[in-house]
Amino acid sequence: MTDRYAVIGNPIEQSKSPLIHTAFAQVTGQDIEYTKLWAPLEGFAAAVDAFRAMGGRGMNVTAPFKLDAFAYATDLAPSAQMAGAVNAMKFEDGKVYAENFDGVGLVRDLVHNLACALQGRRVLILGAGGATRGALLPLLAEQPGELVIVNRTVAKAVELAALAQQHQTSRVPVKGLGYDDVQGAFDVVLNASSSSLTAELPPLNAGVFAPGCLAYDLTYGKGLTPFLQLAQQAGVTRLADGVGMLAEQAAEAFAWWRGVRPNTAEVIQNLKVPWV
Ligand code: NDP
Repeated sequence: MTDRYAVIGNPIEQSKSPLIHTAFAQVTGQDIEYTKLWAPLEGFAAAVDAFRAMGGRGMNVTAPFKLDAFAYATDLAPSAQMAGAVNAMKFEDGKVYAENFDGVGLVRDLVHNLACALQGRRVLILGAGGATRGALLPLLAEQPGELVIVNRTVAKAVELAALAQQHQTSRVPVKGLGYDDVQGAFDVVLNASSSSLTAELPPLNAGVFAPGCLAYDLTYGKGLTPFLQLAQQAGVTRLADGVGMLAEQAAEAFAWWRGVRPNTAEVIQNLKVPWV
């Protein structure tokens, strides 16, 4: 029997998840159907209830429902607890198991696909929203030399740095700063702010890019974003967007649901938007 999965969001037309999971199912020989599910802003729980009643086995969750999913879950994995948000659910024996695979997807893309080892490196992450929060522990598990969080609203960066210090098992120094206070150059600069969605440039000094640095924009499908352009103008040649992260978090969810981890290389290749 075909097992049913979906991605829920509002809006949802833009989602690449059905394309990704259908490709994964084909290469792994899994019999699944994966659809897009739009829900009204106040209607998350009712839509998920209905999907489960029809035999739905699991869901990905996208904006703006990651916090609703957090509240709906019966069993939150540590990744979801730390992120304060849920991006994947599994329905089993009347329970709602919940995970957040965004952070692990980002780190897998960095380390595995882009061959960018983080150990001992200075890492700068822009933004202090949900994406940064979810990425903190997976990034720290790689034992960078230092992790600096920079945000327009400085208090949020400071708060996340304290949270990370409190929960990490290693002893990596973590700082939360405003843009004016960032000092020195970094080996990895991650734009986890939503600036690229509106084609804006975060107020970042181009001196943050160390020679040989990787500049990575978590936003995907926007070509050479203002952040990536800044990096390129500063001489950075290693540029990446978040398409690999998207594919890797999807592969983690697929493996969690189906017990088999698909190879992501072809999906990433097919989703890549050429730099303009
Ligand atoms: P949030 O809305 O939770 O946080 C947005 C953050 O961006 C805030 O820290 C905000 O700062 C900052 N910000 C917004 N505009 C600007 C700007 N012009 N200059 C500087 N900082 C800015 O968003 P998320 O954390 O959920 O998502 C962030 C990005 O990551 C999005 O673009 C999203 O598409 C991408 N993403 C990609 C994924 C992938 O699979 N590739 C997965 C998840 C997210 P302030 O606090 O001061 O308002």
